[in-house]
Amino acid sequence: MKDVKTVTLSESVLAETNQALRMYGERGYEGFVLWFGTIEDQCAYVERVYVPTQDSIQSEEGVGYLVSNNTLFELNKFLSETGLRMIAQVHSHPGRAYHSATDDQYAVVTIEGGLSLVVPYFARGPADIMQWAVYRLNHGFWNELSLRETRDLFYSKTTVTSGSSRSEFIARWKGRLKGKTC
Ligand SMILES: [Zn+2]
Repeated sequence: MKDVKTVTLSESVLAETNQALRMYGERGYEGFVLWFGTIEDQCAYVERVYVPTQDSIQSEEGVGYLVSNNTLFELNKFLSETGLRMIAQVHSHPGRAYHSATDDQYAVVTIEGGLSLVVPYFARGPADIMQWAVYRLNHGFWNELSLRETRDLFYSKTTVTSGSSRSEFIARWKGRLKGKTC
């Protein structure tokens, strides 16, 4: 992940993620999902939203979600069987989005350049990555990306900044399925 400069994902990945997190939120719990996909050179492609087995705890002061060692073992087995890579972890907070000390300590993503996204207000808002907090593991530290860095990393410059973003994004996504260019 450390050389990855573009992360391509479909709107359905965001919608599915938001929906899963919101489901936990409606019960008063933080939720946790993983994004799996493929990496080619500097391009990562999110291909699957994975909701691991998790024990939900109401407050992050006592750890908001808990993924057991057994689940981690199963996850790694799944990844080695499918050849997919772990690209990001995404979890929700009851309030504002930030990486807490607990999040730093218990991150499931541990590879250099890996991503951790935090979704505020139990994902009650829109499935909009620009409203989430995005952190990237850099030399062992989780650094928050600026809005500009977030925009540049996800989708592509043209799709997020230009007026015809949606159609360009869809075209790019379809192109990815054929030729995988990012
Ligand atoms: Zn957290």
